[in-house]
Amino acid sequence: MSLNRRTFMAAASAAVTALSAPMVLAQGRPRVVIVGGGAGGATAARYIAKDSDGAIDVTLIEPSRQYYTCFFSNLYLGGFREMNSLGHSYGGLAADYGINVVHDWATGVDREAKTVALAGGGAVPYDRLILSPGIDFIEGSVAGWDLSSQNAMPHAYKAGSQTELLKAQIMAMPEGGTFAMVAPPNPYRCPPGPYERVSMVAHLLKNTNPTAKILIVDPKEKFSKQALFEEGWAKHYDGMIERVGPDFGGDNVTVDANAMTVDIDGEVTKVDACNVIPAMKAGHIAEMAGITEGNWAPVNAADMSSKMDENIHVLGDACAQGDMPKSGFSANSQAKVCANAVRGALTGSTVFPARFANTCWSLIDTDDGVKVGATYEATDEKIAKVDGFISATGETSEVRAATYRESVGWYDGITSDMFG
Ligand SMILES: Cc1cc2nc3c(=O)[nH]c(=O)nc-3n(C[C@H](O)[C@H](O)[C@H](O)COP(=O)(O)OP(=O)(O)OC[C@H]3O[C@@H](n4cnc5c(N)ncnc54)[C@H](O)[C@@H]3O)c2cc1C
Repeated sequence: MSLNRRTFMAAASAAVTALSAPMVLAQGRPRVVIVGGGAGGATAARYIAKDSDGAIDVTLIEPSRQYYTCFFSNLYLGGFREMNSLGHSYGGLAADYGINVVHDWATGVDREAKTVALAGGGAVPYDRLILSPGIDFIEGSVAGWDLSSQNAMPHAYKAGSQTELLKAQIMAMPEGGTFAMVAPPNPYRCPPGPYERVSMVAHLLKNTNPTAKILIVDPKEKFSKQALFEEGWAKHYDGMIERVGPDFGGDNVTVDANAMTVDIDGEVTKVDACNVIPAMKAGHIAEMAGITEGNWAPVNAADMSSKMDENIHVLGDACAQGDMPKSGFSANSQAKVCANAVRGALTGSTVFPARFANTCWSLIDTDDGVKVGATYEATDEKIAKVDGFISATGETSEVRAATYRESVGWYDGITSDMFG
C-alpha cells in the first residue's frame, strides 16, 4: 500500500484498524532522525521527506552549515576544481522538503528512551534513527601521529580546511623537495582515494615544482586500480613517484611531525610535506550508540538496519555491510534502500527489493580518467557483489576523456540527489 500525506490523513480518521502502522496513529507523524548530513545522511533525509510527502517528520542533525565533498577534493589538489565548487548547503533540504535541519553535534543515543542527545542541550526523540557519521581515525595507528599532529601532517580525509592546508603545504615545498604520503590499511574510505591523490599531487608538482619527488609508504601488498595507476604514473610522471610496500617496511612506519621525518623500518627520511592517512573506524557516535563490533557497525543488507537494534539504521562508511567499498556512491545507494525500507515500516508504503550499485572514478592526469564499479544485492549474510567492471590498461585517450566527462556528470548528479 502506498500512502501520501492526504491519503494517510484520510485513512487515519476513517479506518484506523485498516492501517498497517497503528503506532503511527497513536503518536501522530512518525519521526525519523538522521545523524550526519553527508553522502548517506543527506540522501536518506531527502528521499524519506520527498517520498513520504509529509507523512514522516524528518530531522537531520549535522554540525556543519556547508558540506564539502571528499569526492573530487583530490581534483582541487590537482588544480582541476575550486574549493567552493565542492561546498553544498542544507538550505534546499529545509526549504524544499520540509526537513528540520539542526546544526549541532549528536553526543549520545539513548536506545531505551529512543532519543538523540545534542551538544547544545536537549534530546531529539525518534521512531527510527539513521546514523551516517562517516569515519573517525584510530589514534596511534601510525606511530607518532595523533589528531594533534593534523596541522603539521594533515590527513585531508575529511574535506574542507584540511584539504586546503595540504595544498598550501605542497605549494610551499622547496624546489626538488619531497612529498610523503602514509597510506592507510584496509578497510578505509575510498579505496582508490590515496592513489588518485598521488596522481593529482604529481600533476600539481609537474607544473609548479617538476624536480620534486613523491614517496608513498603503504602497509598494503596491493591497492585498488593498481595496474591503471602504475601505468598512468609511468606515462605522465615518470621517475617522480616511489612506493614502499610492506616488503620494504611500508608497514613499519613512525612519523615525527616536529622534525618532519618519516622513519621506514629504521631508515629516516626528511620530508617537506606529509599526508598521513591513519587507519579508520566508524564515526564515534556509532560507538556511543553501542552498535559497533570492532571498528564498524554491522547491518542487515535488506534495509541497512543495525544488527544490534532494529530501530537504528547505519549507512555509508560507518557500517560493516559486506562487499561494497566505502564510497560516496555506495553511501548514496544504501541510503535509498534504507529510505524505502524505513518509509515502508512507518507508513506501510511498498518496499522494493534492495539493489545497490557503485562506481569509483579516478583522474590520473588531464582527461585521463579511469573507473571501477559493480552491482550488488542483499543476501541474508551481507551486501553481496553480483558483477563488476574496471577500465582496461592501454585504453585510447578518447575513452579516457569520456570516462572523465562521465565522472563530472556523476558529481553533479549525486550532489543534487543529496541536496536537491
Ligand atoms: C580524498 C577522497 C576522495 C574521495 N573520492 C570519492 C569518489 O570519487 N567517489 C566516491 O563515491 N567516494 C569518494 N570518497 C569517499 C566518500 O567521501 C565517502 O565514502 C562518503 O562521504 C561517505 O559518506 P557518509 O555519509 O558515510 O559520510 P560523510 O559523507 O563523511 O558524512 C558524515 C557526516 O556526518 C557528520 N557527523 C559525524 N559525526 C556526527 C555527530 N556526532 N553528530 C552530527 N553529525 C555528525 C559529519 O559532519 C559529516 O558531514 C572520497 C573520499 C576521500 C577522502
